[in-house]
Amino acid sequence: MKLNTMDKLNQAAEQNLMDIENAKASGRKVIGFYCLYTPMELAVAADAIPVPLCGTRNEPIAAAEEVLPRNFCPLIKSSFGFAATDTCPYFRYSDLVIGDTTCDGKKKMFELLSEYRPMHILQLPQKQDTKKALAFWRDEIETFKAVLEKTTGNEINNEKLAAAIRLMNKERMTKKALMDLAKTRPSPISGMDLLTIMFRTGFFADKPKGIALIIEIISEIIERISREESPFSIRTPRILLTGVPVGLGSDKMVRVLEESGANVVCFENCSGYKQAYTVDEEKEPLQALAEQYLSIPCSVMSPNQGRFELLSDMIREFSIDGVVDLTWQGCHTYNVEAYSMGKFVKDKHGLPYLHLETDYSESDTGQLKIRVEAFLEIIR
Ligand code: SF4
Ligand code: SF4
Repeated sequence: MKLNTMDKLNQAAEQNLMDIENAKASGRKVIGFYCLYTPMELAVAADAIPVPLCGTRNEPIAAAEEVLPRNFCPLIKSSFGFAATDTCPYFRYSDLVIGDTTCDGKKKMFELLSEYRPMHILQLPQKQDTKKALAFWRDEIETFKAVLEKTTGNEINNEKLAAAIRLMNKERMTKKALMDLAKTRPSPISGMDLLTIMFRTGFFADKPKGIALIIEIISEIIERISREESPFSIRTPRILLTGVPVGLGSDKMVRVLEESGANVVCFENCSGYKQAYTVDEEKEPLQALAEQYLSIPCSVMSPNQGRFELLSDMIREFSIDGVVDLTWQGCHTYNVEAYSMGKFVKDKHGLPYLHLETDYSESDTGQLKIRVEAFLEIIR
């Protein structure tokens, strides 16, 4: 059951690379980033183009393993491999690449990545609830602002920053409205389609154009709901996928779950609902950015209570039947947190929980399918 607007989305994704090339030719700078903790409003305020950098495909991993340990997180290896093999156009376009000191693997990989592109590292605190951590993070963001002003040659003032915050709030709320359509039972959209839309629109250089396209997709899905059409039945198990980020190329578990008869209705990760927040438009812009970004509930934070709160809300709002927690091999923070997550889902919500650890290859797909089918049997 294909959405007509998907073709338009694919065409827009191709056009996007040309848009970036044209923007670069006219003197605008491109700022590449890897992590949700990077406050990209600052790049928008400096009239630069923020682009997420590729790290979701298996192909560049072999090249990365010539430098990085093999038993590393595939997301880190893929990100590095794309740079080393010069196969990510967004990395090639980037005038500056931003890395955040999140997990150990990533921050050490960034040291090597700096051989390929100019880099700026944001030192992220690992605690969220102290004034000291917030003050440190705000200071990091002020340094980031100065670096961007130097890179782009454009001053970032409060007025420009407030406009960038409004624009990115609008983008995030439009994406949230899209994701929230899957609260309908049965959901009018598959998890794979949702992931595809979220992933592709994430790269759009022209944000208003991207927002307009998501609104068009939302309208088509609302029409589908009004006709009571869905690729699923009312009995299809509704799954919440939590854990590590996923994207096109690292979508194995979403495919396996939906091919086995489930519907991934929502993503409590950086590819999905962790993006569903707004920055306070009433506060002084730098302070508002510092507060909001530091509160992102990733497992690199200790403690990471926010993830459990977000998960609880999503379980209720999306009428979830079971939770699947995905960990990339070598990701210690999500792997350890899986224990508390499993206990929380089973004890507090009384729901079936499945923790899966895998990488980007297809070598274990058969085994994963067997585990998923057994899990879905429990739900049914
Ligand atoms: S999972 Fe954590 S470290 Fe990874 S992109 Fe998301 S916020 Fe950043
Ligand atoms: S998935 Fe885990 S190990 Fe991999 S980059 Fe994210 S936090 Fe680091």
